[in-house]
Formats: sequence, structure tokens, C-alpha cells
Amino acid sequence: MNFSTRAIHVGQEPDQETGAVNVPVYLTSTYAQESVGVVKFADYGRGDNPTRAALEAVTASLEEAQFAVAYSSGLAATDSMLRTLSPGDRVTLSSDAYGGTYRMLTKIFGPWGIETDVVDLSDIDAVESSWHDGTKLVWAETPSNPWLRIADIAALAGVAHRHGAQLVIDNTFATPYLQTPLTLGADVVMHSTTKYLGGHSDAIGGMLVTNDAQLAARLKFFQYAVGAIPGPLDCYLIMRGIRTLAVRMDRHQANAAQVAHMLAQHEKIERVWYPGLETHPNHKVALDQMRGFGGMVSVEVAGGAAGAKAFVEKTKVFTLAESLGGVESLIELPAQMTHMSTSGSLLEIPENLVRLSVGIEDADDLLEDLRQALS
Ligand code: PLP
Repeated sequence: MNFSTRAIHVGQEPDQETGAVNVPVYLTSTYAQESVGVVKFADYGRGDNPTRAALEAVTASLEEAQFAVAYSSGLAATDSMLRTLSPGDRVTLSSDAYGGTYRMLTKIFGPWGIETDVVDLSDIDAVESSWHDGTKLVWAETPSNPWLRIADIAALAGVAHRHGAQLVIDNTFATPYLQTPLTLGADVVMHSTTKYLGGHSDAIGGMLVTNDAQLAARLKFFQYAVGAIPGPLDCYLIMRGIRTLAVRMDRHQANAAQVAHMLAQHEKIERVWYPGLETHPNHKVALDQMRGFGGMVSVEVAGGAAGAKAFVEKTKVFTLAESLGGVESLIELPAQMTHMSTSGSLLEIPENLVRLSVGIEDADDLLEDLRQALS
């Protein structure tokens, strides 16, 4: 089956008893046992829930994977993956990554004995030359947040595997519609399902996806033993979003391309970062490994911090807010909002960088809104 057919049908067959075409929201914390220890589906809701199982099945299918494990947030998924490491291990992280990932690695796992090396992962030579004994995981976002840099997944997997390490790709920005990292050699895909997969800014969730059965069993155990599980209603909402992922992404990226081209010509914009522009330093890699360039655009605004602040506070259709990937357009200042925790670090973001999550409204209204906000 092709992508959208799988998005709408995998794990979502009509309910056998009632014929309901939607997966029911199984609001249950426990399950009746036929006799002691004999269960129909599961013994307790933290371990398993049928709505969650359906969401995991469809996500695994879209990522061309055998296993998916759902969490209560993207960061809970990240936390679960990092728990597979041991004190003394090292992680190589993109020099451009979601601030919360960096915060978790340095503030939570640092004191626990995990070292983090920050490297520009779009530069394969730099990854190789800065390799340390003890590095067990390469953690890459591609496209990255907020610079939209593109890392060559196959090349990164090659370096990681040669050194006996694993490659995790945060696929939140691309989604499986535009990029399937496991088919390019990555070991694990991580998602903040809060974003494009959910697509309506109404639920928080995370996911880890892999073809490694041993790793999947460990992650499933962590999900059960640690308990950072998504509730059944959130699973339903994210699954409903996934059903329209393809049509939404087509519109997101068509609008984003128009926004990127318009802003690239604007006198108040110093630079546009969009992987679909030929001026983007990693445009060629994006063309090779992605099926489209996505809905995120970042820009450096003239006039420094004040120019950027004035811009984000004047838009009317774009809402000033953190997060991304919903149907509505959002605008934000990473240095003071999503990436504040990177202040003073190698990941620090300049104050004039503005990140746009281009929604699926009418493109003309979006362009007009940005023009008036820059005027
Ligand atoms: N990864 C990326 C690329 C993100 O943008 C975010 C959140 O903004 C996360 C991970 C964390 O996900 P969540 O907010 O669902 O915990």
C-alpha cells in the first residue's frame, strides 16, 4: 500500500464488534482478567492500550519500520532512548538542535555520566575528525531546528556504524512523508508527534521507531517501567492528524516555498534558511534524501534583536507562539523562546533569527501578513 492508504488504514480497521470506522478511544486504566493472570489484551493500561497500539502500528508503517513505541511527549521519547546508554558513554549532538534536547543531555544525563559533544553534523569530515572513543550515539535533527541544516543520513550512518555507534534521527520537521531515515541507514527515528504528525496543535506526544527487535523490546520495557505514556485521547488525536499528513504536508511546503521566495527578495531580510532554496548550503543533500523541503522557514532579520522583535509582534495571521507543525501559521524568536536553554552554549541562536512554521492557510494572506509586519 502507498503512503496515504497506510496512513488511513494501518492499525485502523473498522471495529470488529460494532463496525465503527474510527479506532475507539479506550479510556481504561485496567482490564478484566478471565482468571488470575489470564488476560485478553493486557493487564494494565500503563503497559498497553488499544488506541495507543493503533497509533504505534500506523507510525511504524509510515516510517517503514517494524516497531514503534509511543510516549507522552517528544522529550519523553528522547529520555527513553538516552536511558539505553550507560555512565561513561558519549553522545554526538547536532550543533543545531531543539533546545530541550540539549538541555536534557547536559542537565539531566550530564550529571549521570553521559558526555555530549556538539558537532556540525552537516559536515561529515567534522563528525569523523571529532569522534571520541566511547561515543555510542549520534543524535541528528535533519532538517535541524531552527537553522534547517540538512545532515546526510546515509553518510552519518556510515560513520556511526564504522565506530560501532547508533544513529538516531529526529524526524519531527520532515515527517515520514518527506523522509524515511531508517531506509537510509539510521537505527532509530524519534518524533515529537506534537508537531506535524498530530498537526492541529491540540496534543503533546512522542515516538521512537526502529527495526531493531532487541532495542524495541528494551524501549517497550522502559515505556512500561518508567510510565511516560500518552493518554488514549491524545493517541486518537495524533492518529487522526496522521490520516491527513500527506495533504497537509503538500500544502505546508507549497506555502513555505512561496514565503521563502518572497522573504528572500525582501529588503528587511538579511538571509533566508529554507532547504528548498538553491542558496541553502545543503540544498543538494536535501534534494537527494528528501521528497520535499517541508513547511519550516527561518530568517535573519535586519535591525538585530529589535528588528526581529518588531517583526514577530506585528504579524496578525501568524500567531506569536512556540511549537510548529499545526495547520495554523506560527512565528517565534528562538533565542528568547524555544532555544533559550542554549544561551551561552555552542548552540546559541542569534537574536535576529526568526522561525516560521508556515501553516495551510491561503498563501496570499500569509504573504500579505508578513509584508505588513515588516513594513
Ligand atoms: N524535537 C524537535 C525537533 C522539536 O522541535 C521538539 C519540540 O519543539 C522536540 C523534539 C520535543 O518535543 P515535545 O515538545 O513534544 O516534548
